[in-house]
Amino acid sequence: MGLCEKNIFEISSCFIEITSVCNANCLYCYNNSSSNSKSYLSLETIHDLINTLYSCNKRISVTISGGEPMLHPDFTNILMLLDKLDIHALINTNASLLHNRDDYIFLENCSFQVTLDSLIEKEQDSIRGSHSFSNIANLRSIIPKKSNTNASLRINLTKKNCDYIDEFIDKAIEWGYDEASFGFLVPYGRAKNFDGIINRHDDPDLWSSIVNRLELQKKQLGSAINLELVNCYPRTDCPFIYPDKLKISPRVASNGDIYPCLLCDDDKFIIGNIHDKPITDILLDESFQALSRVFIARAWEDGYIQECKVCAWKKICFKGCPAVAFETYKSFNNHDGNCDFLKRLYLKKAVRSS
Ligand code: SF4
Ligand code: SF4
Repeated sequence: MGLCEKNIFEISSCFIEITSVCNANCLYCYNNSSSNSKSYLSLETIHDLINTLYSCNKRISVTISGGEPMLHPDFTNILMLLDKLDIHALINTNASLLHNRDDYIFLENCSFQVTLDSLIEKEQDSIRGSHSFSNIANLRSIIPKKSNTNASLRINLTKKNCDYIDEFIDKAIEWGYDEASFGFLVPYGRAKNFDGIINRHDDPDLWSSIVNRLELQKKQLGSAINLELVNCYPRTDCPFIYPDKLKISPRVASNGDIYPCLLCDDDKFIIGNIHDKPITDILLDESFQALSRVFIARAWEDGYIQECKVCAWKKICFKGCPAVAFETYKSFNNHDGNCDFLKRLYLKKAVRSS
């Protein structure tokens, strides 16, 4: 009996990196994609993966990413496959290959996310490759707003660009984007060496002032544009910590390796490879089960984390994100470093309910 029939997991979404080949060589790529990479998931592998995911969840949401996904030789066939199953995909792209395509009929049923780092053309192009600024500015002239296409402008905030939140929003509106999605740059892959990363622990005041600014803008903007705040708050919950029903949003890398989620980036988190067996079987394997037991114990067991043992909130606290804890301390025997935030949050809730 498979995992869907047993009803013990729910795969709510899947992040699929169909290739690591990229024509942009962005300075801070989280998965080190580049024009020197050669890795592709074959159409057959993607076909099997998507059909397996769909058989588990007819409403699955899929992100197609890379590298630059439009460099995949079967990109159109992948779109056709998704379209046939009525899966509306989000395409993470640098928008360099949108012109001269013959698959607009399928592209018009997708959403797009592109990333803008700077409002200065020269600076944007130096970070994300030549013509990046103009490709992003012109996206709506290629995929018009009348189609079924949602366009999201992602802004990864750093010390260099965080003073220009209002101007980024104005640009997103001017260029016809439906969404401006702000998040802090995460130090993964080449971003480890990128200058200006804002770390919540080292720069708590800067971090809070940015989040407050974004919250205020969100309230004031109304329906002018959808403003998304990504990774702005520490995680208070993890979908892997419920033994009776796990919700999982796995990442499939272009070499077929499967990670439980996007932030589980270390090789230690690889739970199997899509070339060996279907993703649903991998989730039932001991490798994922063992990792899941660690996540569950870390969240629920008294004494797993020394500092939490004596904390007044230990019964209601899940000790933050295990992936961030591991990335920060190389161990699961720590909370994720956001304890001060969690304590303030629980105190506020307790006062409110008293
Ligand atoms: S490990 Fe962290 S990022 Fe991954 S699902 Fe759990 S809380 Fe979210
Ligand atoms: S608030 Fe901090 S110390 Fe207390 S249980 Fe949560 S993570 Fe541990």
